[in-house]
Amino acid sequence: MFSHKYFGKELGHLIGGKSVPPHSDQMMPSFNPATGEVLAYIPEGTAEDVNLAVAAARKAFEGPWSEWLPWERHRLFMRIYEVIEQNFDELAYLTTLDIGTPITKTLGMKQYALKAITYFATQTTNIGGQTLPNNIGTGVMTMTVKAPVGVIGGILPWNVPLVGLWWLLGGTLATGCTIVLKPAEYATMTILRLVELLYEAGLPEGVVNVVAGRGGVVGQALAEHNDVDRVVFTGSVQAGRKVIMASASNVKRVQVELGGKSPDIVFADAPMELAVPGAAMAVYNNCGQVCTAGTRLFVERKAHNEFVDKLVKFSRQMRIGPGIAHDTDMGPLISQGQLDRVMSYVDGAAPEGATLVTGGKRLGGDLSQGYFVEPTIFCDVRPEMTIAREEIFGPVISVIPFDTEEEALRLANETEYGLGGAVWTQDLSKAMRMINRVKAGTFWVNCYDWMDAGVGMNGYKLSGYGGKGGPTHMDNFLYQKSVYINHTYSGDVPPVGAGLRA
Ligand code: NAD
Repeated sequence: MFSHKYFGKELGHLIGGKSVPPHSDQMMPSFNPATGEVLAYIPEGTAEDVNLAVAAARKAFEGPWSEWLPWERHRLFMRIYEVIEQNFDELAYLTTLDIGTPITKTLGMKQYALKAITYFATQTTNIGGQTLPNNIGTGVMTMTVKAPVGVIGGILPWNVPLVGLWWLLGGTLATGCTIVLKPAEYATMTILRLVELLYEAGLPEGVVNVVAGRGGVVGQALAEHNDVDRVVFTGSVQAGRKVIMASASNVKRVQVELGGKSPDIVFADAPMELAVPGAAMAVYNNCGQVCTAGTRLFVERKAHNEFVDKLVKFSRQMRIGPGIAHDTDMGPLISQGQLDRVMSYVDGAAPEGATLVTGGKRLGGDLSQGYFVEPTIFCDVRPEMTIAREEIFGPVISVIPFDTEEEALRLANETEYGLGGAVWTQDLSKAMRMINRVKAGTFWVNCYDWMDAGVGMNGYKLSGYGGKGGPTHMDNFLYQKSVYINHTYSGDVPPVGAGLRA
């Protein structure tokens, strides 16, 4: 059985490269969602802890770290690569026990992490402005230069700590910013251990700090802190709104990556051997606790019955159990609260007219101490039903039939969200029309949930703004200065307001 130095202990924050006890001495238990047992005790941070961490991050930002050259930051990434590669199994097991994701999945995230580190390492030497033409005069050279934004506040969700952190760390370390991380209450241990490993790799003191605790206290204090220059929030729409409002304190830059209710569109000409497991795992992955989960499954009517039969068969073959077992396909939900939430959506679906075709129950027996639910499929779902509109964050698929491409498109876009989406078809023209017209920040064709740091992900509508990864990611961590240089040293160009010359 996997054991860890954190288990049974009261943990501290990680500030200035050291473990620091919480100002208040208050602790909260961190549970194994597969068994309900307490794994460790997490500090309940306060605004004082946030102040301490922000001061450490500011000191680091103004200190020697600001003098590091791009190649030195690149070297740091390479050392981080080695340390993460050597210690990834530990991170994977810790995460599996802490949040329930099957161990085969968390171990599989190693490749993602190492590729992301490599990608962000290359960005260190790629940051630069442009020289630009101007209409002022031939004696004036104009350009943009880039400068790190400063201290970042990073507020994280609990569902994919081994993936989500790299966007933030990548942008922070590649540009020379510093950061205070606020992990989610349920996934603090992975973040603490990962940041400890960064220090083992040679991270300068205070460049990355962690303050654990409740969202309404630590998250709020970070979002409104006057010495934080930018806040990056990933989580629910409700909390995201509060972060946007709090960010007004010093008009800090803000990025919010929020929830989704993504459409997954299956045409009758889809490659079914891909589409059936693809549509199922687009929801069952991480027990449905993925922001991009394709929970609104639109199936062309002429393929509907056959497709649903295959989907039900796939769902019933899923092996449900503790994530730590290597033959588990789907682990538990994260908490009792999340279980209650998912079951309330399931219980409310039939009264609204949906038909339960498989699943719908909490698992008992050996699994009764954990938060396990069956993979669940509802048919006869209409777009206005609650399960078709609201983010459930559980393994629940709503199947909605359609007859024409136009109808599929209209239904797909009938949502307040716009995070992900997918189409399954062998007709490339049809796929292109969907790519162009579905209002989603990330879109897949004949696949789902592929993610690459260099390509990124984005959001439309309530799913937030700012984006992660891709060609504009670094700009989120940089100021752009516009520079005008008069190199004539003469009166040929008026020294003031040259641009206003008649
Ligand atoms: P959540 O909003 O409850 O919590 C997210 C983080 O915000 C946590 O660290 C929490 O402590 C903190 N928080 C809560 N209230 C806050 C406040 N008032 N001020 C500042 N911080 C606060 O979300 P969750 O339950 O951890 O995660 C699930 C949600 O996250 C889902 O809606 C999911 O779709 C979304 N999510 C989005 C993405 C994305 O990239 N778009 C990725 C993962 C998860």
